[in-house]
Amino acid sequence: MLEAEGLGAAKVNYRLRDWLLSRQRFWGAPIPIVHCADCGEVPVPEDQLPVELPTDLRGEQLSPKGKSPLAGAEGWVNVTCPSCGGEATRDTDTMDTFVDSSWYYLRYVDPTNESEVFPSEQVNQWLPVDQYVGGVEHAILHLLYSRFFTKVLYDLGLVNFTEPFKALMNQGQVLNGGKAMSKSLGNGVNLGEQLDHYGVDAVRLTMVFASPPEDDVDWADVSPSGSAKFLARAWRLAQDVESAPGTDPAAGSQTLRAVTHRTIADVENLLEDQKFNVVVARIMELVNAARKEIDSGAGAADPAVREAAEVAAQILSLVAPYTAEDMWAMLGHQASVANSSWPAYDEALLVQDTITAVVQVKGKLRDKLEVPADISAEELEAQALALPKIQKYIEEDGGVRKVIVRAPKLVNVVTG
Ligand SMILES: [Zn+2]
Repeated sequence: MLEAEGLGAAKVNYRLRDWLLSRQRFWGAPIPIVHCADCGEVPVPEDQLPVELPTDLRGEQLSPKGKSPLAGAEGWVNVTCPSCGGEATRDTDTMDTFVDSSWYYLRYVDPTNESEVFPSEQVNQWLPVDQYVGGVEHAILHLLYSRFFTKVLYDLGLVNFTEPFKALMNQGQVLNGGKAMSKSLGNGVNLGEQLDHYGVDAVRLTMVFASPPEDDVDWADVSPSGSAKFLARAWRLAQDVESAPGTDPAAGSQTLRAVTHRTIADVENLLEDQKFNVVVARIMELVNAARKEIDSGAGAADPAVREAAEVAAQILSLVAPYTAEDMWAMLGHQASVANSSWPAYDEALLVQDTITAVVQVKGKLRDKLEVPADISAEELEAQALALPKIQKYIEEDGGVRKVIVRAPKLVNVVTG
């Protein structure tokens, strides 16, 4: 409309700037070009790629002196021209490091491939990357370059996708006392000491439990000793199970089974949503529920206790694999818990909250029943009329005249 009125025009506005490709530094990818007085710039033949940095430059020789440090490596610089065979020199500049870092995920598919940079068929099968995890410092330039490289490779017909990453998560930082850890502040945490003291499972569990992965963690607020205590609780649970491996859990405590199956169902969603800290909280609740069943419920021989302990080991293997493996072995299974199938949940056990509905006949309380809180009026009426006691009253009073239903709490049968 503005163009039609002569008041404005469409315009593409780039905010990007050219980025320097060649630099006079040692550390970088050599430029695969040979300079010949007769032939000009000649590409290094493919069978001589990649051009590697010389290995004989040391110390001061690596520092910039107004020209590239590579120029000092005469044995490396002086070559014969691939085109005419005459005297020639290698290019002594190096490419910026984004030339390496912008496509490494393609190389990961087949890292020992000697004949090509990557096999397109396998790369198309595995990529794009489903979930990219990286610090916020990589959020702008690295992602931009990676996208450029991918789009160029797409145009060259080497990959069949135009975006390298489907999803990105920037993980948080580990702070100490509200500040980033640094040598100058002296507030670093010695990870080696933590691992020696608490074990790798407890330290990892602490990190995962502390916050969602995209949030910062303050080491001053976390408790690796609490994690170690929880892992010991989980371990003792597996040790205390008295039923045999393979026991059918169907006859076990329905209360505990409901917790176990609700945990499996919820954890699947929590994992998809990357709420790993909540996953840990749910394992803790499951272990506590199973412990309660042993101590003041159906006891250690109840098959639902075994089911709960096995599921706890399987989910725990995601964050505390050593503890989980030991639990799995104590539960009588072959290694490894990581190779076991992900537990399946039974929809029928995912009961919602239930409520007690009262059933009256001619206004007098005659029976009660447990129903889901969201039961429909039709379903509640059907269940109430099917109760043996109620059927008896209906028969004695001369049949149903009218039924008043207030789901989910009340059914009143008017008889006669
Ligand atoms: Zn030449």
